Amino acid sequence: MKVLKFGGKSLANGQGLEKALEIIRYKKLNQEDICIVVSARGNTTDTLMALLENAKNGQWEEEDWINFKEDQLKPISQYQSVLEDEFKTLKNFFSGVKLLKDYSLKIKDEILSFGEILSAKTLVHLLNHQSLPAKFVDARTFLITDNRFGNAIPKEEISERFAQKIFQEFRQREIIPVVTGFIGATENGETTTLGRNGSNYSAALVAKFIDAEILENYTHVDGVFSVNPEWVEDARHIKNLSFQEANEMVNFGMNILHDKTILPLIDKNIPLKILNTFKGFDQTGTLISNDQTNTSVKSLMLQQDKSLVVFEGRGLLGKVGVDARFFGALSRAGVSVGVISQGSSERGMGVVVDQSDALKAVEVLRKEFARDYDTKDVQAIHSVDNLSVISIIGQKMSHFNQSYNALIKNQVEPLLISNTVSGANVSIVIRKEDTSKALNIIHGELFENPKQIHLAIFGCGTVGKTLINQILHSTYDIVNRKNTHIKIFGISNSRKMILDKKGIGKNWEHQLQNASKAADIGELVKYAKENHLENLIAVDNTVSHTFVDHYEFFAENGFDLVSSNKIFNTLPIHQYRNLRKVLHENNKKYLYETNVGAGLPLIDTIKLLHLSGENITRIKGVFSGSLSYIFNHFSIREVSFSNILREARDKGYTEPDPREDLSGNDVARKLLILARELDLVNEFSDIHIQNLIPESLQHVAKDDFISRLEELNDKYVQLKQSLPPDHVLRYVGELKGDLQKEKGDLEVKLISVPRTASLGQVKGSDSIFEIYTESYGENPLVIMGAGAGAEVTARGVFGDILRVSEHK
Ligand code: ASP
Ligand code: MG
Repeated sequence: MKVLKFGGKSLANGQGLEKALEIIRYKKLNQEDICIVVSARGNTTDTLMALLENAKNGQWEEEDWINFKEDQLKPISQYQSVLEDEFKTLKNFFSGVKLLKDYSLKIKDEILSFGEILSAKTLVHLLNHQSLPAKFVDARTFLITDNRFGNAIPKEEISERFAQKIFQEFRQREIIPVVTGFIGATENGETTTLGRNGSNYSAALVAKFIDAEILENYTHVDGVFSVNPEWVEDARHIKNLSFQEANEMVNFGMNILHDKTILPLIDKNIPLKILNTFKGFDQTGTLISNDQTNTSVKSLMLQQDKSLVVFEGRGLLGKVGVDARFFGALSRAGVSVGVISQGSSERGMGVVVDQSDALKAVEVLRKEFARDYDTKDVQAIHSVDNLSVISIIGQKMSHFNQSYNALIKNQVEPLLISNTVSGANVSIVIRKEDTSKALNIIHGELFENPKQIHLAIFGCGTVGKTLINQILHSTYDIVNRKNTHIKIFGISNSRKMILDKKGIGKNWEHQLQNASKAADIGELVKYAKENHLENLIAVDNTVSHTFVDHYEFFAENGFDLVSSNKIFNTLPIHQYRNLRKVLHENNKKYLYETNVGAGLPLIDTIKLLHLSGENITRIKGVFSGSLSYIFNHFSIREVSFSNILREARDKGYTEPDPREDLSGNDVARKLLILARELDLVNEFSDIHIQNLIPESLQHVAKDDFISRLEELNDKYVQLKQSLPPDHVLRYVGELKGDLQKEKGDLEVKLISVPRTASLGQVKGSDSIFEIYTESYGENPLVIMGAGAGAEVTARGVFGDILRVSEHK
C-alpha cells in the first residue's frame, strides 16, 4: 500500500483540491492500493485559532463564523448536511469559550482537530461522489498519545496494534481510507494534536503501522532545495536525500516536514517522496530513503524570529553549578534553547531562544540570579531580538572560512557561530535584516556559484563609456575564466541614473538617455541595500571636484572604490588620510591605478617598492600624454608651436581648452599622487609649477585663446633655437629631495634633455616614468608606454575592478 499525504494548500478550495482529486483518480486508474492522510484544508488551522482567540477575548464576530463555514462547504455546497454535525459541535465549543472567556490547551486541541476532520470528511464525500469508494478514518481511533496537549507524543506500540486492526478491513478491498492527520487521542479518549505541521508525522506513523511501500507527500513545493527558493534565486533542487540528511535538515528548521517525520520511516525503511500537487505526473520530487550514495548534500536552513539571551556573570567565574541553575530556570519555564555559546575565560553565556520566549527567559533568569545581581556577581541579563539562525548543513567548520570571509566583507557580522560536535554543520546567528544577503552569500560560496560583483559606475564621458562597453563585452569570459559575474547595477551621469539589480545591458546609453530618475547617490546606495546586493564597487570616472565628497559615504555603506578621477588624491592631506582610515575601518579597498599614467602599472609598482622597504630617491618623467605629444613633435618637426598645438587638439590629445594641459596642473596632480604613495605629506601648494601659458593669455575666454595661439610661437622658436645640439624639449614632473623627510621637492617644468636619453626617446603621446632607488642606483626602473587615452584608461580601471573583485 502507498500512503498519500496531502497538505493544506493541496486541499485548498479551487486548484489545490482539484489537483489532489486528479492525483487520487490517476492512482486508482493504475490500480494502486492507496491510503490517504490529510491536513486541514488551506489555512483552516490558523482560522480556527483566530476564532478561538476571538471567542476568548469577547471579539467573536458571527460573520467570521459564517465565512468559515462557507469556506469549508465550498466544494460540496449542495451537500451542506455532510458537515452539519461537526459545525454544531464546534459552535458549541466556541460558545463555551465565549462564556468562560478562557480555554485550556485541551479545549484548543479539541477545536483544532476539526480542521482535519472537516477536511477528511469533505474529501470522502467528493471521492464517493466520483464513484471512488472512500471511508473516513478518525485517527483518534488508533493513534494513542500521551496528554501533552498541543504537542502530544504518540505511543507507538499500542497505536500500531490498533491501526493494524482498523486497516485490516481495507486490505483487498477497493475502499480508500481517508485518515485525519495531526490528531490523536489519549487512552482516556481526549483529543490531542501532534504540533503544527503534524499531519506529516501522522502520515509517517500510518505508513509505519501498515507497512506501506512508500509515503508520498503532496505539497505545494517541488521538493527539498539547497535553500528556500523564495530567498535565494539559484537554490538547487535536491533529488535524493538519505534519511540522516533529511533528519538533520528537519532538526535545523526545514519546515516542509514535521520534526519527527523521518523517524518512523527509518524504523521500517519506508521511502518518503516529496512531490508538488500542482506539477502533474512526471515530476522528480525529492526522494528521501535509506540510499546513502549521496552523502554530500549541502543545504542551508533558516530559523527566524529568534532572540539571543545574554548572561554576563563575571563574578561567578569558577563557581560550580551556574550552568545548571541557568538551564534549570529556562527549562522550568518551558523555554527551549537553540544555539549555545559560552566563553571559557569569562563567565558569560549566550543562548538562542524563540523571540516569543525571550521576555520570559530574561525574567526567569533575573529571578533565578536575583541575589547574584545584588552582589554584583551578575552584571547583566538581557535579550537581543530580531535575529535569524542560518544552519549550513554538510559544511565542516574547517571549510567555513570562505563563507565567513565573504560575510564579513559584505558587512554581515555573525553574533554567534557554533558547530555540531559530530557531523558537519555550522550555525550562525545574524541580524534579521542581513538574512537574505547572508543566505545568498553563503549559498554562493557553498556551491561555488559565480561570485556576484555589483558595480555602480559614475561618469559616462569617454572613459566611462568605454569602460561600460568593455565590461559588457567581457562578462561571459570572466564568468568562465574567473567564476566571477560582474554586474553593473547602476550607471549615473551628473543628471540621471539607471538602476537594475539584474545587471544593466548593452542598451544602457539609450536607457540612460530616457531615464526618469535623477542622479542621486543616496538613492543608489539605498537601492543596493534594499536589494541586498553583495560585493559592491563604486567606480568614479568623472572629473568632478564634488563627486569625491561621497567616497567616505560609499566606504561606510559597504562599497569598495575604484577611481580614474584624480581629484580625491590631491585634496588636503587630512582628507586624504581620513578616507584611508574610513576604508580601513570598513574593510574596503580604494584603487586608482589610472590616476597616473593611465593603465601603466605605475602606482602599483611604486607601492610595492615602497612597501618592501626599497628606498625610492627620485621619480622623474613625462606624465602627460598631451604635453608629450606637443613637445615630441615640436622638437623634431619644422612646424610652428601653434600649429602643433592645433593638431594635438584636433586629434583629441588635449583637453578642449588646451590651457588645462599647458598650465601644468594635471602633471602636478599626478606628481603629488605619486609623492603621497611614498607617505610624503606634500600639499598641492608645495609644487613648483611652470605654467606654459603667458600671463596675457591666462585669463581670456577659451575661443579667444584658441584664436591667439600664434602669440606663443616666438617664445618657443627661441627656446628651440637655444637648445644644445641633439637636445629636445620635454615637460617633466620631478620628485626629489630627502624622501625620508616629511615632504619632498616637487617640481613641474619644461627642460631640455639629450635626444638619446630615455626621456629624449619618448615618442607619440607616450608617457615615461623613471624611478630611482637606492638598490638600482643610477639605473632607474623605467616604465614607458601609452599613458593616456580612453581605451587604455578604461582598461586600467577595469583591471582595478578585477583586482578588487579578487579580494571579495
Ligand atoms: N493542520 C495542522 C497545521 O496547520 C497540521 C498540518 O497541516 O500538518 O499545523
Ligand atoms: Mg597607471
